[in-house]
Amino acid sequence: MIDSDVENPNSNIILGAPKIEDDGNTIKKQVFQYIPRIDEELCTKCGKCSAVCRMHAIFHVKTNYPILMENLCSGCKLCERVCPEAAIKSNSKMIGETIYKEKIKSGNNGSLDLLLGVLKIGQVRAANVVEELFELTEELVEKNNYDYIVLDQPPGAHCDVEFGLKNSDFAVAVTEPTPFGAHDLKRILDLAKILDKDVYVVLNRYNLADYTEKIMDIVEKYGSPLLGKIPLDQKIMESYAQGIPFLEYQDVPDGNESKKAIEHIAAEVKDIADEYKGGEQ
Ligand code: SF4
Ligand code: SF4
Repeated sequence: MIDSDVENPNSNIILGAPKIEDDGNTIKKQVFQYIPRIDEELCTKCGKCSAVCRMHAIFHVKTNYPILMENLCSGCKLCERVCPEAAIKSNSKMIGETIYKEKIKSGNNGSLDLLLGVLKIGQVRAANVVEELFELTEELVEKNNYDYIVLDQPPGAHCDVEFGLKNSDFAVAVTEPTPFGAHDLKRILDLAKILDKDVYVVLNRYNLADYTEKIMDIVEKYGSPLLGKIPLDQKIMESYAQGIPFLEYQDVPDGNESKKAIEHIAAEVKDIADEYKGGEQ
């Protein structure tokens, strides 16, 4: 399982391994981002670096040395390339890390390998952490013969989500019956259309608000099959609050609607994944 929600990775908590970062068996790798360093001995204050920076990360006032605003810098290196005096040197800063742990206990009977990306607090550019995550994934896939890889993505349709979707066989969009849910669902379905990826939909907390019909209209319009509907259920919140996978939460009686819905969705997702695996062979 890969958690690429790098601003808030928490899959380990729901898998019952909240202290993953303190564990000696965990493999961590720091992630760095390029940032320019301006050598004032060589700089002639021409301002070309500031003019080309699309992120407006270099502030330049005539007759002064340019000032770098680190947090705005995306690390594109364009300023270094255009500087006529070679006054811009390479530097880097640590922006996050990847954490990998094998055989995390998952629920009562299962275990899985977990790879998390973590963006350092105060950093805003997640792309390098996500890229590193996928590079590591390629190495891990070569080493291990995984049956399935599940990628937990952040909400939205920004470039990190696009990167994950591109690298996946198919996606499951989890939405809820609210105007916000409808808005986000449309965005991810539009992105999937551009990338030519299949997206299946799960409607969570379907009885939360009277908005289900609007979601169903979207599902129909985009031709994305609905895998199932999960109700708003106090038992789900209780299990979540305790960090216990819902299907293994002791207090859930057999025949519980949410339990049946989640089991059905899980079976559907597995069947779809098997179809893709079959297609690869
Ligand atoms: S382009 Fe080079 S020389 Fe010109 S202001 Fe920037 S760092 Fe200085
Ligand atoms: S590396 Fe790119 S984003 Fe950063 S300051 Fe230079 S031009 Fe701007």
